[in-house]
Amino acid sequence: MQRVCIQFVLLTAAVIGLSFASSRLWGGKPEGLTDRGPLVVEDTMTVAQFGQHNELPPALLKKVFDLKSPADSQKSITAFGMSNEEIGRKTEGLLALHAEHGSKNWVKILVKFSLWLAFLASVFVLMVRRRVTARNRKWLLLTAVAIFGVALGSDPSPMGTVKDAIVLLGARGVIFPPRLIAFGVFLLLVVFANKFICSWGCQLGTLQDLVFRLNREKQDRKNSTRQFKTPFAVSNSVRIAFFGAIIVFAFFWATDIVESVDPFKVFKPQTLGLGGAAFVGAVLILSLFTWRPWCHLFCPFGLVGWAAEKISVFKIHVDYHKCVACGACEKACPSTVMGAILKRDRAIPDCFACGTCLETCPAEAISLKAGKRSEPPAGKFALDIVETETSTVKQRPSKDKGEN
Ligand code: SF4
Ligand code: SF4
Repeated sequence: MQRVCIQFVLLTAAVIGLSFASSRLWGGKPEGLTDRGPLVVEDTMTVAQFGQHNELPPALLKKVFDLKSPADSQKSITAFGMSNEEIGRKTEGLLALHAEHGSKNWVKILVKFSLWLAFLASVFVLMVRRRVTARNRKWLLLTAVAIFGVALGSDPSPMGTVKDAIVLLGARGVIFPPRLIAFGVFLLLVVFANKFICSWGCQLGTLQDLVFRLNREKQDRKNSTRQFKTPFAVSNSVRIAFFGAIIVFAFFWATDIVESVDPFKVFKPQTLGLGGAAFVGAVLILSLFTWRPWCHLFCPFGLVGWAAEKISVFKIHVDYHKCVACGACEKACPSTVMGAILKRDRAIPDCFACGTCLETCPAEAISLKAGKRSEPPAGKFALDIVETETSTVKQRPSKDKGEN
């Protein structure tokens, strides 16, 4: 436990310290919406006066009133067939888009997506060839944390594309197209290969995973100090409820409930308040004992990705001709998903394509490949063997068979 604690403290201190330095190097873009206070719209105003009073750029005024010539800006705002409410709404929406655009560091975004694609492609090849081992997994995770989190920051992230899109639509009534494109890319990656972006690309996901692996024995098959697997019905119910709360607060109260506790801010620590720091600390400490707590309990992309992975082309398969029903993969998997895949349960939890099961199987019966999963032969796991604390064996009934 002492070794785990020391490694944990060193890792988090390095991530926070280096992220602090790197986020300052990237410059002062706010990467978030600024609150300007209410707009002033009065019938007596001309377009130019409306712009001056509310400090609006000319390009934005042109879009709000569809101005055809400079002379149009001397017309009264009532001359354009819109009520004051409509003018206010349209201006607020365009201002939100303007702020979104201005807050992005487009060079960094381009670099990050290029590196994501290159890194994920490399890990994918390693995984298909069964080369992701206990030994190199930690290095791969550390590389992902260093590049996509520490060096390239908290934004963009798969989680941000979902959460920010909901908040922007709910609070300001607008859609920011570049975010939809990013979301589409992340979703396509899930459809291609089973939450690969979460497993190996997401800065927070890889950090939680790396922390979790610190508390595993050398072979990465079981914990060093006690770890637990949360039942999927519990974690997914919490995640669905949280997703619903994000929507309700955004649409009814124009509020972003994630903002103050956003754990991605660990890569931009100067923006973390006291509550946020406490929450991030709790997520990271919990990661020592349970796998990816934020992903399973709260992340909106985690939920959307879980739904999308039902149609993933590449996913974990079991070859039942080779499988000796020893249950080693189920025990080694950091969550309950391998047990569900193995026995084709009705509900399959999130598989983060971490590759632990591939390496663990003594019969090389597990692979990451394309196609539909096959069914286990009848009775294959009827006498399911489980290890107890005294190394005796027990029997338990096989579970329901189901989809996917
Ligand atoms: S589920 Fe986890 S890995 Fe995936 S986007 Fe959310 S935080 Fe990142
Ligand atoms: S089944 Fe479990 S161990 Fe295997 S890749 Fe998925 S999450 Fe990892």
